[in-house]
Amino acid sequence: MEIDLSPEDFEFRQEVRDFLKENTAKPGADYSQWRLDYFKKAAAKGGWDVPKWPVEFGGPGWSPTQHYIWEQETVTASLPWDMPFGIGMLAPILMNYGSKEQIDRFLPDIRERNVNWCQGYSEPGAGSDLASLKTKAVLSDDGTHYTVTGTKVWTTMAHMADWMFCLTRTDDTGIKQEGITFLLIPMKQDGIEVTPIITLGGAHSVNMVHITEVKVPVENRIGEEGKGWTYAKGLLQHERTGLAGISRSIVALENLKRQAQSVPRGNRTLMDDPAFKSKVAELEIDLLAVEFTELRSLAAAASGDDPGPESSILKLKGTEIQQRIQKLTVEAGGIYSAAWGVPVGHKFARSGMQGYLGGRANTIYGGASEVQKDVIAKNVLGLKRS
Ligand SMILES: Cc1cc2nc3c(=O)[nH]c(=O)nc-3n(C[C@H](O)[C@H](O)[C@H](O)COP(=O)(O)OP(=O)(O)OC[C@H]3O[C@@H](n4cnc5c(N)ncnc54)[C@H](O)[C@@H]3O)c2cc1C
Repeated sequence: MEIDLSPEDFEFRQEVRDFLKENTAKPGADYSQWRLDYFKKAAAKGGWDVPKWPVEFGGPGWSPTQHYIWEQETVTASLPWDMPFGIGMLAPILMNYGSKEQIDRFLPDIRERNVNWCQGYSEPGAGSDLASLKTKAVLSDDGTHYTVTGTKVWTTMAHMADWMFCLTRTDDTGIKQEGITFLLIPMKQDGIEVTPIITLGGAHSVNMVHITEVKVPVENRIGEEGKGWTYAKGLLQHERTGLAGISRSIVALENLKRQAQSVPRGNRTLMDDPAFKSKVAELEIDLLAVEFTELRSLAAAASGDDPGPESSILKLKGTEIQQRIQKLTVEAGGIYSAAWGVPVGHKFARSGMQGYLGGRANTIYGGASEVQKDVIAKNVLGLKRS
């Protein structure tokens, strides 16, 4: 997509390019040290370590175009590993609903990437219908702590997390959304057991977490008891906006075109095959449309608005596009895609199949596609249930 850049925007783009070039990992460098140094230097640029945070919490206050430029430039750069749970998901909740003490206690470590967080929402029997969750939190008679017992599932990176932000049930007598409380729970303690789940692509990123009679001080409760659902809903919108991965899809589609050009088809290449070319063209058009939607969402965010239910459009279409690219990559790899893990055929076919299998989850986590369609129908289009 071409958008009009002002001379200041071109200057900003050059500044971003220079920064990324200077701070790329040097061969043989200690990764952990480079990661921490990178974020320190990005912070010193005036909030470049937390581009989406509001100015009052240290964010850079970029215009939508500057956000767009950052997205475009960073997607191909070598940036350090950064999970969204602290920076992108818990931080906005703390800013909106946390006490001053909680903000002072947790935000600095989140910003410095000193502490890893995981998201304890889903449970066996409570995924799409999250409000059915049963993990119980009972307040002590003296009101000082909760005792938490239950099971969380699909918890991404729980095995590496120091803390979990967790939805618990404190009341099961009324409407199910009203008895939910948002607690922050340290992971490294007796009573927390993390069991790995190996997914279709062979990776270990998700886990089952059993919580048994874990005591959580009331100071670790965000906002009011029983209001966790309201806070969690806001967080889901931030999560969905981040999951669309538009810039990554733009790069992935360019890679796919290059890969297809390396696959012989008669005297020419797969990229010259009209049927394949037409699928790529359809993808390009859809991606362009989602890119514009993301730009609108960036513009809303820059003027201080929350992402809103429109984030479901980005999540739905963005993750579908990711899967279509993964599917076409497997198609381009042909029979070699089936032999993934074995060093034969096109190099891209090996990672292509792994990406395809792992990517089946993209339209499930953060709320399954069917659920996003419900949100769009109800809250964006204003349709009534028939
Ligand atoms: C890789 C991965 C990582 C994850 N990471 C986390 C994490 O870090 N933390 C966390 O808390 N959770 C996480 N999740 C859980 C994720 O949010 C849930 O899997 C998701 O919300 C779907 O819930 P479910 O798996 O229980 O499926 P279900 O809710 O049982 O859904 C099963 C099927 O029924 C459909 N369905 C359900 N309700 C409706 C409806 N009303 N209308 C139409 N169709 C419907 C769904 O679309 C789906 O196809 C992760 C999941 C995956 C796969």
